[in-house]
Amino acid sequence: MSDIAVILPDGTELSVEEGATVRDAAFAIGPGLGKDTVAGVVDGELVDKETPLHDGADLVIVTDQSDEYLDVLRHSAAHVFAQALQRLHPEAKLTIGPWTDDGFYYDVTSVDLEQEDLEAIEDEMRDIIEEDLDIERVLVDREEALEKYADNPYKRDILETEAAGDDELSFYQQGEFEDLCKGPHVESTGEIGAVKLLNISAAYWRGDEENDTLTRVYGTAFESESDLEEYLDMREEAKERDHRKLGQELNLFAIDETTGPGLPLYQPNGKRILDELADYAKQLNLDAGYDPVETPHLFRTELWKKSGHYENYVDDMFLLDVNDEEYGLKPMNCPGHATIFDQQSWSYRDLPVRYFEDGKVYRKEQRGELSGLSRVWSFTIDDGHLFVRPDQIEDEINLIIDNILTVFDTFGLDAEVALATRPEKSVGSDEIWEQAETQLRAVLDDSGIDYGIEAGDGAFYGPKIDFAFKDALGRKWDGPTVQLDFNMPDRFDLTYTGEDNEDHQPVMIHRALYGSYERFFMVLIEHFNGKFPFWLAPEQVRILPISDDQMGYAKKLQYELGDFRVDIEDRSWTLGRKIREAQTDRVPYMVIVGGDEEEDGTISVRDRKEREAKDVSVEAFRDHLQSEYDEKRPEPDFLADEE
Ligand SMILES: [Zn+2]
Ligand SMILES: [Zn+2]
Repeated sequence: MSDIAVILPDGTELSVEEGATVRDAAFAIGPGLGKDTVAGVVDGELVDKETPLHDGADLVIVTDQSDEYLDVLRHSAAHVFAQALQRLHPEAKLTIGPWTDDGFYYDVTSVDLEQEDLEAIEDEMRDIIEEDLDIERVLVDREEALEKYADNPYKRDILETEAAGDDELSFYQQGEFEDLCKGPHVESTGEIGAVKLLNISAAYWRGDEENDTLTRVYGTAFESESDLEEYLDMREEAKERDHRKLGQELNLFAIDETTGPGLPLYQPNGKRILDELADYAKQLNLDAGYDPVETPHLFRTELWKKSGHYENYVDDMFLLDVNDEEYGLKPMNCPGHATIFDQQSWSYRDLPVRYFEDGKVYRKEQRGELSGLSRVWSFTIDDGHLFVRPDQIEDEINLIIDNILTVFDTFGLDAEVALATRPEKSVGSDEIWEQAETQLRAVLDDSGIDYGIEAGDGAFYGPKIDFAFKDALGRKWDGPTVQLDFNMPDRFDLTYTGEDNEDHQPVMIHRALYGSYERFFMVLIEHFNGKFPFWLAPEQVRILPISDDQMGYAKKLQYELGDFRVDIEDRSWTLGRKIREAQTDRVPYMVIVGGDEEEDGTISVRDRKEREAKDVSVEAFRDHLQSEYDEKRPEPDFLADEE
């Protein structure tokens, strides 16, 4: 038998016999590891340990100590759910049940389920875990598999599409239950420490609204009860902070049925925050040598054909027919910026050229996927495109990474960084991709930043570095990206004159600092729980006159603090109620004025952390606000200074 070589995470090659599985490779590394193997990651995909390896495969062995173990555990919990469901509701038909970032779901049909039914199913799941059933992988031939699913058109659909080429299909059995599945799974149901069913929603078969509606049951699983408890507490807190809830309570944004789904409307409070964010990004961009540009919301599809968006992206584009000519709302800003670059002739000395624009884009997401500001049809990217010489790539990417990390720092968000490589649908030659990926890897390696690999997650025109926001609750959200693009300059035939007086092609870099304003705003609302830093707060100071007698003094103060967003509480409520209202509205500072303050020409200040200071001079307060604003401090700290 001939040997094949697989590549281990440290870059070393391991030689194994042809036909060897993930588990065989693990045993070849060491018998201890072989015994501990739960699954494998082959070329970025989590697979069963019995999966045969191919020559040149990237292999990571998964044990119960690996991050991926939780995915395996949760997917196994999905099977336990399906088993419990069929014990209690034998009429239920199963479709698919994958793991997710924080649990699992199973899409089922032919069964009437309500939220109240989940408890009984959950109890049954605990019984199945208690029974500690072995989970066994069984290979079944195609005929038999089709027979098993004679009355389940969804499983048959899987057999006839994804699994069309397989003569043998893998089923996983536990006790009386079996399910068509590629795995991987844990060894027995007893390995699943804690489970919880969370909620029910509707879903479409294969996510297509033309298809049948299914019932999706979400759940989660952990290795221990305490991990589950911690997660459920975090989830409760997240519900309280939900940006859709706070967006309404704080009058930040609205999505209106009449104006359309996925099309956010920003109220004055929301727009004030967005403007501050835009000003901050603009200043960072100007300081980093970017020039502002502007492009319209739609272009002739000629442009989208030239850029490659039409062939790769047309399903997600809004197309319009204008006088028998096709136009498309822009799903990206890049082709517009490339065209702007092309209007001038450039010398090697002019590069890098850096453009930025807060560009509104439109992408047709499935209606069922739309949610608050996290999934929308229209959103604004704080978009930047750089046109650089090949020898400038490394320096420019380093500068961009610096700027992005500055943004994370300003908002107190942690960053998680990953290199996303070539996807299945892509343009450009193998050499170009190889070169681009190598360069991004080199910059990341030199920078000393900890990063992961997202195999196949790159843009269709080039690899990228993805930054994820980690918020105050430890949740991860997609953030800004830096993308290297050797393809679009080629498609647009962009050139600059080199030192040798010949035409050369610049390299394009796509980057954002926030990603999209919508996504970033959502992250900030939930991260800060609506308690925005002073510089962002839509209402920064609220003056609370103790009685109507101080209304004149209150107006004078509002004028004196005129550089900031200051409102006066003019409802004739008790002071206690006025304070509670300002607290609910999350106003950073309350200025309380009564007869004494008016007489002395001073103010009393209270912050939303319930700290107080009396006899404060208006000038000292104003100076403090200015420095807090300029330094973009994440927390009000006026009274801390006083102590
Ligand atoms: Zn499975
Ligand atoms: Zn771009």
